[in-house]
Amino acid sequence: MSEKQNIVVIGGGVIGMSIALELASRGAQVTVIDRGEPGFGCSYGNAGWITPCFAMPLPMPGMLLKSIGWLLNPDSPLYIKPEPSILLFRWLTRFLFSMNQKHLDRSVDVLTGLSKYSLESYEKLSQDSGSTIGFEKKGLLMVGQSEAGVKAAVHEMELVARHGIPGQYLDERGVKELEPALTGRIQGGVYFPAEAHGEPLAIVQALASAAQKHGVKILPRTEVYDFVIEGRKIRSLKTTRGELKAHDYVLATGSWSHTLGKALKLRIPVLGGKGYALITKPFAPAPRLPLMLIEKKIAVTPRNGSIRLAGTLELVNRDESITPRRVENILRGSREFLSVPERPEITEVWRGLRPCTPDGVPVIGRPKAYDNLMLSTGHQMLGLQSAPGSARLTADLLLGAQPIFDPKPFRADRF
Ligand SMILES: Cc1cc2nc3c(=O)[nH]c(=O)nc-3n(C[C@H](O)[C@H](O)[C@H](O)COP(=O)(O)OP(=O)(O)OC[C@H]3O[C@@H](n4cnc5c(N)ncnc54)[C@H](O)[C@@H]3O)c2cc1C
Repeated sequence: MSEKQNIVVIGGGVIGMSIALELASRGAQVTVIDRGEPGFGCSYGNAGWITPCFAMPLPMPGMLLKSIGWLLNPDSPLYIKPEPSILLFRWLTRFLFSMNQKHLDRSVDVLTGLSKYSLESYEKLSQDSGSTIGFEKKGLLMVGQSEAGVKAAVHEMELVARHGIPGQYLDERGVKELEPALTGRIQGGVYFPAEAHGEPLAIVQALASAAQKHGVKILPRTEVYDFVIEGRKIRSLKTTRGELKAHDYVLATGSWSHTLGKALKLRIPVLGGKGYALITKPFAPAPRLPLMLIEKKIAVTPRNGSIRLAGTLELVNRDESITPRRVENILRGSREFLSVPERPEITEVWRGLRPCTPDGVPVIGRPKAYDNLMLSTGHQMLGLQSAPGSARLTADLLLGAQPIFDPKPFRADRF
């Protein structure tokens, strides 16, 4: 391999690993470095949904009044802790300005593109990896207790239908026939039959082993703490295990990106959207389908021998503490829809920081200041479901190929 094709990917989450696989399968010589074990960041315990029907940005039109309420209510499914911080102030300002229909339409357009491409890639990865990633295409059922909740789901269904994603409105009877485990008062819901889910860590591991077959080198427990810069180029990385030199570098460090961006004098406004996932032993009756409990914003995923309940989003800057009342809120909210016992057998409580940009669109592209750096970060709630598509765009741009996705909405210099 020539030095030209030598690329270091910083960050071994689902985004970094997908990029490594894509680049290596196109002939590049790739090294992935991670400060911990690859796949143990936000990609470890997410809901596992590969659902193009949810290809929405975080800021949505009509959220303004709601977002003021979130600032004041620590129990709301989306919580923004008010604190004096320039990063938070700038982030919130851009977030508010992104709550408009034009931005929504444009974002759904590009995010469904990445997600549909990714769903097909995961189907192939499942076959190639001997079905080790728990990939299942059972669809997704959104279920609501209130008229407003179901109306919002129907609105989303109509929005994504324009991008070829099928969905079907169901009344209470229809919802309960499809998912008999649902209890309590249900207003109705929307069923998206073509959606999939998988096991998030197993997916990163399958990507890693496919990448290794293409010659990718993986260096765990190797943290980048600074950069050696010469003019418009990054000469090398200073890591906790020595200096590392490459021709090109990709920054795929999820919610850590703001800090590393500062070392490069780049503005990467990524905050953490802290969420939790609880693994419980199955309760009876156990849900058969992945469920979105609309009003509580809880994702329920049936697994082999357990159930994952995931949800809440608390905007933070690198705070990984666990808030017991928010964990409890997930159980309480799930209990309104399902027969979750008073004392369920929880085998794991996990939290992760979703890398959130203020406009809800990932940052994929070259920052103007550097000739040999690509950013691929800020995948908010959609990192798993959009990783292979995102990797395709990153690799197209890095290798100078004609990109199959429009790169403009993802520009690295838009903030
Ligand atoms: C509760 C919850 C549920 C979710 N459900 C879904 C879902 O169903 N579907 C979906 O698509 N998405 C979901 N998400 C979002 C998804 O998990 C993220 O978008 C995705 O994991 C981001 O991947 P990443 O590779 O960018 O980040 P990460 O997985 O966090 O990877 C970044 C990596 O960079 C490494 N790193 C950081 N700094 C350095 C450094 N200085 N040097 C070296 N390495 C470094 C870290 O160790 C880490 O491994 C969910 C998130 C949460 C919290």
